[in-house]
Amino acid sequence: MTIATNNVTILGDINKQLLGLTDQHIHYLPNKNLANESLTASNAGRTVQTSSKPQIGIHQQMTTAFAALKKSAKTAGIELEIASGFRSFERQLQIWNNKFTGNTAIKKANGETLAISGLSDRQIIEAILLYSALPGASRHHWGCDIDVYAPNLLTCGESLQLEPWEYQASGPMEKLSTWLTKHAAEFGFYLPYDCYRGGVAAEPWHLSFAPLAKQYQATFTLQALQECLINSDIASKAVIIDNLTEIAKRYINNTCDLSLIPIQPHQKATT
Ligand SMILES: [Zn+2]
Repeated sequence: MTIATNNVTILGDINKQLLGLTDQHIHYLPNKNLANESLTASNAGRTVQTSSKPQIGIHQQMTTAFAALKKSAKTAGIELEIASGFRSFERQLQIWNNKFTGNTAIKKANGETLAISGLSDRQIIEAILLYSALPGASRHHWGCDIDVYAPNLLTCGESLQLEPWEYQASGPMEKLSTWLTKHAAEFGFYLPYDCYRGGVAAEPWHLSFAPLAKQYQATFTLQALQECLINSDIASKAVIIDNLTEIAKRYINNTCDLSLIPIQPHQKATT
């Protein structure tokens, strides 16, 4: 089987897809692919509850590549699952407003909850941006970006918080992390938040499918994002708009350089 990583053309309205204003590009996975019950991540609004599991969606043109990645991981003893896939603008807006108003805790890099009383709007915005994207600027809008974990690597009763230490040496997801670093590129995937660059925290669970991501990235404009935010009910709107150029530089465009990733189509004889 060959995963075509070089000639994927995005269908439909790429401008709306980019901002999370449509799910026309999304394939919703059957329920059996929903995150395992042991996952209780709430770090970036990814809370998964057994009673009301959100349906997970991924880009229609990524399904074959993801299936191949998952199959290969399985041969290495890793049951790859998606904790969070597509998110709409509305969902990201809900996450944002809940954090800004204090309804949802804002986590610091060390995992502790940030006390927001006494902080300026700008300080709160920067604290949220460490783990949560601005609505309209989340790579999860694209459908080609997913947060992954492996439930079979958790010991019985253990829950996952999607925190960096879990994916580092001696953490439960270390095996997954090591495998992804070595093999993800064979299937067209890479880790845009592989390390902290002064903006978004390191997210060793966040995978991106490069052939699609590079097209969304190339389509992104600050003007379209600004228009979208002005027309929304986002908390702290005026401060965000005033600082949008700086926010984009530090938190939106500040990812791993895709041109440095040795993405290679996975070549394997069809059986
Ligand atoms: Zn993510």
